Amino acid sequence: MRNTLILILSIMTFQSLAFFNEEWKHDELNDVIIHIHKEPQITPSQLIKRLNNYSQYAKEKRWLDTEVLAASQLVGLYSALHQYDNAENVLDEFLAKSLTLDDKSSYIFFLSVELEIFDIRSDRQGAKIARERYKNNALKFGNQEAISYMYSKLAQSLRISDELSKSLISAQAALKIAEEIGHLERKALALSSIAKVYEAQNNYEEAVKYNHQILSILLTEGDKLSVSILYNDIGMNYLRMNQFESAEEFIQKSLELSTEIQDEIGVAYANRYLAETAIHKNELSKAEAYYKNALTIFDKYVDSKMRVETSIAFIELLLNRLNRPADAQLVLISIQEAIDKRSYKPEQLVFYKLKHELEKKQNRYDRSLSALEQVIQLEKDIHQQEKESDLQQLMVKYEADKIDADNQLLQQENELKQLRIIEQKSKNMILTLVIAIVLTIVSALIIILLRQLKIRNKFKTMALHDELTNAPNRRAIMNVGQREFDHSKRSDKQLTIALLDIDHFKNFNDIYGHDVGDEVLKLFSDACRNSIRSNDEYGRFGGEEWLIVLRDAQPHHIEQVFSRIKDYLTDTVSSIEQLPSEIKLTFSLGATQLLDTDENLETLIKRADDNLYNAKNAGRNQFITDL
Ligand code: GH3
Ligand code: MG
Ligand code: MG
Repeated sequence: MRNTLILILSIMTFQSLAFFNEEWKHDELNDVIIHIHKEPQITPSQLIKRLNNYSQYAKEKRWLDTEVLAASQLVGLYSALHQYDNAENVLDEFLAKSLTLDDKSSYIFFLSVELEIFDIRSDRQGAKIARERYKNNALKFGNQEAISYMYSKLAQSLRISDELSKSLISAQAALKIAEEIGHLERKALALSSIAKVYEAQNNYEEAVKYNHQILSILLTEGDKLSVSILYNDIGMNYLRMNQFESAEEFIQKSLELSTEIQDEIGVAYANRYLAETAIHKNELSKAEAYYKNALTIFDKYVDSKMRVETSIAFIELLLNRLNRPADAQLVLISIQEAIDKRSYKPEQLVFYKLKHELEKKQNRYDRSLSALEQVIQLEKDIHQQEKESDLQQLMVKYEADKIDADNQLLQQENELKQLRIIEQKSKNMILTLVIAIVLTIVSALIIILLRQLKIRNKFKTMALHDELTNAPNRRAIMNVGQREFDHSKRSDKQLTIALLDIDHFKNFNDIYGHDVGDEVLKLFSDACRNSIRSNDEYGRFGGEEWLIVLRDAQPHHIEQVFSRIKDYLTDTVSSIEQLPSEIKLTFSLGATQLLDTDENLETLIKRADDNLYNAKNAGRNQFITDL
């Protein structure tokens, strides 16, 4: 029986355009190749020629995608025509090339044909691997339509491997997807895969229901070749259900269509099944004619299964029903070579049984005996083969289960790995985020801290320094004084303080202005700073009054300080440009020393102030001390 071919090949009228006069643009040619099967009637051999020409043209132009596209149409055509050697040659050349293209649809299609070839060659191990490869790639690269197609093809292959329940599941998956995407052609293909499973289970009632569903789709959507094959399938279903009228009706329809589209294989199949219906209706001469029709076509395919099967059925007719052993003998001889060549033992067994009977009927006992010996040997071989094949099947199943388990394990490991990577990534991300946040907070804190330190330092400086002269202010010098007072009290050491006041300072303001007064104050501050020992300290006590704290001072130290300041002022007063050059800047000083009776710093300062007062009264520009 032929596999139902749906919409791979369409029927075309002959186009007389001479190909080589044509110039093609890349996209145009692709378009033509894609739709080539939708063109009106053309014979398959013309189609093959055109596709080969397109492929050649694309090769010269170095359009690999176009070349691959033409190759995929060719492969589909070859497999539809059962020319599997040709199909395999194209696959050998283009399978690897098609994988390098961005568009993987040709590659996936090649994989489907590759699977079909393994099935045709009855290579179950190869088919098993091809199914796996096809499925994985279709799921990876294919769209929903390609995936539905894949499940249908898988179903067909599984059916051929006698895995009927798996086949049905796959066909149903194909149907579900086809219905979801509303793709009628794929739906028809899926339904056909389901029908074939029921046929394999000899459940023809169920099969014919599905085939009628497909027919209603194909009659509006399908090409004539597909419809004619389907008519034949339905006829076959009725034949097996012993509904010979319906069987004949559908096979006749198939015959008409096949004739119309010049599909000779279709014509041959229809004749073969019409022969069977005729036999059931006891129209034996009609049956003979049908077999002869079928065989004139099948005889071209010398070693084909269809030829051998049809010939054997014809021999049975001639021998058992028409009782014409001589004619039967002729047919038998015609396939002797093919039978030996095909070396398919069940076929050979049927053949030699017939031969044994035939020779016996013609009283050639020697030959009959040797045929019988063949029969016995074949029966033994088949028995042995069955045992081996049972073992083989068990081994294949074991291998397949092992591969399945390995694949599953691999997949689970991969998933686990992926999960680990994701987990690690999110961990890293969280860590990075935490580090970033911590760094941001820490740097913000540092900035704030630094700023506060700066402000605090500024305040500290402001709090202890006089803004105008930058000398220690009253509070600062009083702190020093208090500290030294306490220290001296404890350690019984000398402590001297001096109060200085600029003479007639008011006049500077009044005569030269307040700004000049400020300059004088700054100069006086410099004078004090530069005239005391490193051990001593000074500060601005008020307006133009200054306090100097001297540790361990001897009496002559006061005089030293006084004259140093005086000299400094004399030397530098000219730096204040607004003052006349002859001007004199003088000051008075009152000093005192810590006495045992002094209870606090204020007492000490009061005494110095008294001395200062006295110095002013004594005419200024002098110092008075009670040391
Ligand atoms: P005496 O010789 O008796 O000390 O006379 P004097 O003019 O120095 O004394 P008085 O206390 O009468 O004057 C002090 C003046 O100092 C009054 C005030 O205006 C001025 N003064 C105080 N602080 C500042 C200041 O920061 N800048 C300026 N330019 N003048 C100030
Ligand atoms: Mg004063
Ligand atoms: Mg003064």
